[in-house]
Amino acid sequence: MRVTTTPSMNLEQVWQNALAEIELQISRPNFVTWFTHSQLIEKEAGVALVALPNHFSKEWIENRYYNVILGALRNHDDSTKKIEFIVASHNDSAIKKSLAAKKEKKEDSAGQLSFTEFKIDPDTNLNPRYTFETFVVGKSNELAHAAAQAVITEVGSKYNPLFVYGGVGLGKTHLMQAVGNEIKRVYSNKYKVKYVSSEKFTNDVIWAIRNKRMETIKEKYRLVDVLIIDDIQFIAGKPATEEEFFYTFNALYEQNKQIVISSDRPPKFIPTLEDRLSSRFQGGMQVDISFPDYELRSAIVRTKLQEKAVLLGDEVINTIAEKIQKNIRELEGILNKIIFYQSRGEEITPKFAEKIINESIQEPTKNINPNQILKAVADFYEISPNDLINRSRKKEIAESRQIAMYLLREVLSLSYPFIGNKLGKRDHTTAIYAYEKIAQEMQKNQNLNQKILTIKEMINRE
Ligand code: ADP
Ligand code: MG
Repeated sequence: MRVTTTPSMNLEQVWQNALAEIELQISRPNFVTWFTHSQLIEKEAGVALVALPNHFSKEWIENRYYNVILGALRNHDDSTKKIEFIVASHNDSAIKKSLAAKKEKKEDSAGQLSFTEFKIDPDTNLNPRYTFETFVVGKSNELAHAAAQAVITEVGSKYNPLFVYGGVGLGKTHLMQAVGNEIKRVYSNKYKVKYVSSEKFTNDVIWAIRNKRMETIKEKYRLVDVLIIDDIQFIAGKPATEEEFFYTFNALYEQNKQIVISSDRPPKFIPTLEDRLSSRFQGGMQVDISFPDYELRSAIVRTKLQEKAVLLGDEVINTIAEKIQKNIRELEGILNKIIFYQSRGEEITPKFAEKIINESIQEPTKNINPNQILKAVADFYEISPNDLINRSRKKEIAESRQIAMYLLREVLSLSYPFIGNKLGKRDHTTAIYAYEKIAQEMQKNQNLNQKILTIKEMINRE
């Protein structure tokens, strides 16, 4: 049935209709995860503007659900041609204000956020955005930076492989890709460079095995001069992929081709990585990137502002640098959000910045008890907290139970015996297993990550 939107239908109703349709097309957990905090905030000249709570959901939804959403909106109003997404929190009165401000200065192009579009080179997979020029150096990354620079001057011979490790969002991908981009630039394309995530490498290996075309791996990866492979921890425990990578590694290494590898931890701490690979990695240069100190965080904020040609007061910059300590991606996300509000006419005071930051980052958890965690998990999965406790082995319940165990540990640091006991008098080893399984799975499964983020938000909202 096709319903036409009447002008009197407000945005909220239009969005509710669209959501009802979207809900029919995707799974319930996905729907809850991705759409709970979405909001239609404008529909004009065929463009629907949808607000999402964070950059992560924006990216995810844009990539996976664009067509589903467009279809749902067009069912109600086929003048809708395009959807744009912005990051802004739900119920934020600032959205309304900023929209009003946007209307006022419609002709003013400075009112739009201008993000230069960067195209990934399909040949090298390098993103031109990641350069040394835009990489800010501080104590936590200076060694990694110096090693990366050294690779440029002595490609393949000095630090081989260069192994960069460190936590999420600290600049590993940026730095490695900068190596690739710089080698291309300095040697005017003399070297054939290839960047690949280890997930992509794994998929290529699986495809080659299935199609009995192992030679494609050779052609693709053994003919390069510089191989950059990101997040190598994900190939651990996948024997066929590890083996193929081992051959690729050796083939390149023996010809003095440069290899650059990243991981979230040093090779010896990647549990299921084959010894022979681990020792190959340790044969080169290992450098870590740790958490940025205040000076570096503040320098990064200033650099990003310069890149975007935006001004913010010193106090605001200090507030951002002070508050966001452990993840540069998060720092950038919040900065973008603040810039967005500014571009829409909001006056950015340190207090306002602090509000945005508090809304965006996980609050430290105070006064939360285990039952609240169980309730949030149960609500998310639409089951009762008792289902978590009793003995059902149904798959959905098993997953939710493991997440509950994970969160009890993660959020409240409860002991494993306590957690096991709390969830139906189970053994502490069950709790340990659940915690480790979820923690590991989160490293590679973004969907799970987002579920857990949502549940954490639900816990904090109680
Ligand atoms: P990782 O691969 O370690 O998870 P990324 O390289 O993807 O992290 O970095 C996350 C974001 O932070 C990127 O947008 C990157 O450009 C930015 N970033 C990280 N470190 C720096 C730095 N030293 N200077 C400027 N930007 C940085
Ligand atoms: Mg990365």
